[in-house]
Amino acid sequence: MATYIVLLGPPGAGKGTQAKILAQTTNLAHISSGDLFRENITNQTELGKLAKSYMDKGELVPDDITIAMVRERITRSDCKNGAIVDGFPRTPIQADAFEKILDGLGAAVTAVPYVTAAEAVLIERTGGRWSCRAQGHIYHKKFNPPKQEGICDIDGSELYQRDDDKEETVAKRIRVYLERTMPLVEYYRKRGKLIEINGVQPVEQVTKELLAALK
Ligand code: ADP
Ligand code: ADP
Repeated sequence: MATYIVLLGPPGAGKGTQAKILAQTTNLAHISSGDLFRENITNQTELGKLAKSYMDKGELVPDDITIAMVRERITRSDCKNGAIVDGFPRTPIQADAFEKILDGLGAAVTAVPYVTAAEAVLIERTGGRWSCRAQGHIYHKKFNPPKQEGICDIDGSELYQRDDDKEETVAKRIRVYLERTMPLVEYYRKRGKLIEINGVQPVEQVTKELLAALK
């Protein structure tokens, strides 16, 4: 059966960083709802324009739009063995919808690593985050600097600071996370899928613990 790993955790916990590494080491696709929205913004699609109006305020994009986008993504051929999903689901409605989508594919969520970090860490990490324009590769000015300032090591594209990584917007995103996404911790714990991972360790150590937990 296909494997679907959902990475849960607050903004800045390290989900995207770990999802990219795990996707490479496990041969699963990487689905990031945030990256999908940002691609739509870059391509100036209708979906992108709509999503941006919520993202700039640090709010969640409405469930129906987000669910439709992920439903389309997950049926692409690169997901046939499953996927590492980061940033989705973010509400109980999305989690229920995801269960139905996977059920339709004869699959289910395999495990939900919950990556934790204290608020001060989240603020420091998002405040120094640099993202690659072309493919969303993730850097940090202090914790994971690129070899050459402003340029992605992997694809040579420009690195930029996300509009929603400004401190006020991050504070809002953390509040939204606590209100709307935290209920998913209990949602997946009840289903026996939750695995807590301490995100305040070096990237390699977090990866090691994730891989051990997912075995
Ligand atoms: P999320 O997807 O959960 O928002 P990211 O993976 O984008 O988090 O990481 C947020 C920022 O923190 C990035 O700048 C990233 O380089 C950095 N980062 C990620 N994991 C770690 C870690 N274990 N230690 C230090 N910095 C990290
Ligand atoms: P982070 O990695 O820092 O947690 P993301 O890239 O996942 O941030 O998300 C950035 C923004 O994109 C969110 O603040 C929200 O506006 C929107 N977004 C991403 N995923 C979802 C989702 N599953 N539901 C609703 N909005 C989402």
